[in-house]
Amino acid sequence: MHKHIVLDYLTLLALILERPFSSQQRNNLSAFKHNIKIINRFIEQEILRVEQSILCHNHCIELVDQLIEDGELLSSRILDYLEKISNLGRIHDNIDYEKIFQLANKLRPYPPKVTFPDVVNLIFALEIGAELLITIKVNKLQEFIKKNEDLLFQEYPDYRDLEIFDETSLVKWIKEYDPQKTETITVLTESNEEKEIPEGSTVLDFAYKIGPRLGNHCVQALVNNKSVSLDYVLEYGDKINIIIDKEFGQPKEEWLKFVYTKKAKHEIKKWFRRHNISQGKALIMNEFSNKYSLYGTIFQYVATTLMYKTPDGLYEDLGKGIIDIRKIKDTLRIYFKYYESLVSEENLELDNHIDNPIDGQSADEYKICTHCQPFPDDSSEIIGIIKVRNDKRILYIHSEDCSQIKNVNPDNKRVINWSYSCQLCTVTLKIRMQDREGILRHILNDIPPHFRFHVRTVTPVNNQSDDRIGVAVINCLVSSKKQLDFILLELKSKPAILQVQILKITPG
Ligand SMILES: [Zn+2]
Repeated sequence: MHKHIVLDYLTLLALILERPFSSQQRNNLSAFKHNIKIINRFIEQEILRVEQSILCHNHCIELVDQLIEDGELLSSRILDYLEKISNLGRIHDNIDYEKIFQLANKLRPYPPKVTFPDVVNLIFALEIGAELLITIKVNKLQEFIKKNEDLLFQEYPDYRDLEIFDETSLVKWIKEYDPQKTETITVLTESNEEKEIPEGSTVLDFAYKIGPRLGNHCVQALVNNKSVSLDYVLEYGDKINIIIDKEFGQPKEEWLKFVYTKKAKHEIKKWFRRHNISQGKALIMNEFSNKYSLYGTIFQYVATTLMYKTPDGLYEDLGKGIIDIRKIKDTLRIYFKYYESLVSEENLELDNHIDNPIDGQSADEYKICTHCQPFPDDSSEIIGIIKVRNDKRILYIHSEDCSQIKNVNPDNKRVINWSYSCQLCTVTLKIRMQDREGILRHILNDIPPHFRFHVRTVTPVNNQSDDRIGVAVINCLVSSKKQLDFILLELKSKPAILQVQILKITPG
């Protein structure tokens, strides 16, 4: 069984050339030499496989070119390594390099000292499901991962499985990874070629070992010329023939329950992710009949508003059925409210006015408890309490477990339900901030664009007690508690903002 390791190109070069590139590496030179010997043995036994992204490959070759031009002499050992690396560090033909580059680009800005090739290499390692990434910038890269973990998780749910070491830890890793522990068996391809596969692998693992296309399109398997189910566990000497259907063969959820190797699991999850994204896109195309570009600012806005870092994350959840297309229409409603004067939307038929946000309960006013903040989006049950104030019937809406209604007579509590048409609430916030003069400018300019879309009105109010402190009341549209928390956090993170208080939440 191969272990895939990805090297950053400086380390790769250092390993190839046994030539240090930094003072830290100079100190580690003896460890390097040791590593080379170990790696060499593992590569020869086909236990380790050195992978590299195309960028790394190019840089490597460029730098080596440069070294040769500069009159550096390459020892036979170095040349040996170059050959080995160029054979084993093959360029993958089924890798979407375009996607890797775009994602790397999207993740800018990087922490200091992290470069584009570093990020490309990291994403490449995740894309191929490598076990190990060797880089001289371990801490910097960890910092980068921490900063972008949401997005990385969306793209690569197993991103934590990738271990990141520096070149000296490689020795430790190799010692811990004892190849003898992994029992492998030898099986045969249909052309009688021998393949090593971990004991416990199924025919499907075998198909994925040969290549993701064979795995993804696999519909039937023959072992020793007899048809077997795809969860058949291989035995020593089995001869396997994988039958594919390029048009209709595709992975099934249950496959994840019986495949044994990480490679197969990784490829199946990757397929589902891509499949769900394209399903989600199709749903959107179908609903909005190609009116809006899937790659434009509109869906970027919808994604950010619904707490996705990328539209792909949104499309994926839509494809999976985790979120409903209505939710997207609704978010577009806010977007077009903002652009009301710019875009007219006759086809969306989004009704702005909600008569009654609660099924079967009418009142003159509806107020949502600012303490427990139940939203139409939440799944928890809600309780209604009617109070009469100045001849008006006001329905207060609470979460069922709200501490504010603990002592209310149960006879006055009603279990209520949001009406289908109510998906948004208006939250009224009171903001106290320094720099009274600049209050509107702050609120409208310093706040990130995705939040600005939610803001309906900003009203400065007179503050008689202290004229250095500005006070404003903001009305914004919010669809969930999560979103409200996010908006509050954004506001509170502004240095000029001293206090944010929720005055009122009303449905619709
Ligand atoms: Zn409450």
